[in-house]
Amino acid sequence: MLKIHYSLDSGLNESITPIDAPKVLNIQKRNLVLQAKKGQSVRRGEILAKHPSPFGGAYHAAASGKVTAINEHNLTISCDGGDETIDAVDVRSMGVGKDLLRTLQDLGIDVAPYSGKAETLVINGLNPEPGISVAQQLLMDESDIIQAGLDMARKLLTPGRTVLAVGKGEKFKLSGAETVGIKPKYPRSLDALVVRDITGREFPADTKIVSVMDLHDLGRVVLTGLPVMDTVLTIDGRNYRVPLGTPIRHLLDTVGIQPSSGDIVVLGGPFRGEAVYSLDEGVTKNDYGLFIIPSSRFPKVQDAPCINCGECVLNCPARVQPHLISRCAEYDKFEMAEKHGLHSCFECGLCAFHCFARRPLLQYIRFAKAQLKASRQTEQA
Ligand code: SF4
Ligand code: SF4
Repeated sequence: MLKIHYSLDSGLNESITPIDAPKVLNIQKRNLVLQAKKGQSVRRGEILAKHPSPFGGAYHAAASGKVTAINEHNLTISCDGGDETIDAVDVRSMGVGKDLLRTLQDLGIDVAPYSGKAETLVINGLNPEPGISVAQQLLMDESDIIQAGLDMARKLLTPGRTVLAVGKGEKFKLSGAETVGIKPKYPRSLDALVVRDITGREFPADTKIVSVMDLHDLGRVVLTGLPVMDTVLTIDGRNYRVPLGTPIRHLLDTVGIQPSSGDIVVLGGPFRGEAVYSLDEGVTKNDYGLFIIPSSRFPKVQDAPCINCGECVLNCPARVQPHLISRCAEYDKFEMAEKHGLHSCFECGLCAFHCFARRPLLQYIRFAKAQLKASRQTEQA
């Protein structure tokens, strides 16, 4: 059980443990445009789906096998245990330009942070949430891969200043970047706050920020010419390299954790993570943690009216009024939520954590953002 606290420090003493590909991979279809069809044989690294946004990275098979099912949630691959892999792409010899960005996107990289130019490039090297140690682990064990990613990012963005933000007192270094220490206390690890700490400004247009996890993905693609096929997750204090699409059930079995009936399994960290709806759910690129809340440790879920205590406002680093925004979202007043600063929220989860009434404030906020995004996409179509 993960004890909730605010410190982002972690006591690392082991290296990343690889998890073998399971017999079945479940690729979540949500927000993807499928390219593979049922019955199709796929090699390791073969493209399965594209991202509908102009910058989002494609999704690839983490193991060879056959697409045996597609339902409303997942595309399922039955793995054959073979090692047939797609041909590598020589990314390093490509010149800077649209073709390079498109190739990186086709290899699974979200290229939004690498498009255009930036006066300042910030690398967020803080662990994203308490209890998660992925950033520190990658900086400690695989800085050569992160360096390859940084070299490519600098080639694309040509920043005047590059800064590696790490927890105060840490000695990590990357060539071409100055290291700046930040107090390792949540929510100081969130991108918006890291940028403010480094530049002294809020949301400066000339600054881009990427995490060390993003740069690690980019570095692996550059060095191997193969797409992103796994992610690193912290589970119970240890870090694991997990093939994308690995069902949570397989992961828990492999690491020896057995949830009991009624427990909540959460993907992500303690403040921003989301409960999984099924243990068959597959791990995605953006996941960095997994933990369990025993049923005895959380109160019964019920509709909870706001009691106007103001705790959420006092704890909001974005200085918005979460109680107002959540009430707008609750009653489908999404544009009103926007007027109350919905988009200034960077989803730290502190409001919900402090709410005495246990209102699902972060979920309301994410719901309002998703509804507005969907309605605007429909208007544009
Ligand atoms: S999640 Fe809540 S506390 Fe955090 S920035 Fe958004 S509104 Fe503020
Ligand atoms: S912390 Fe919860 S109960 Fe208090 S004002 Fe905010 S939403 Fe309302």
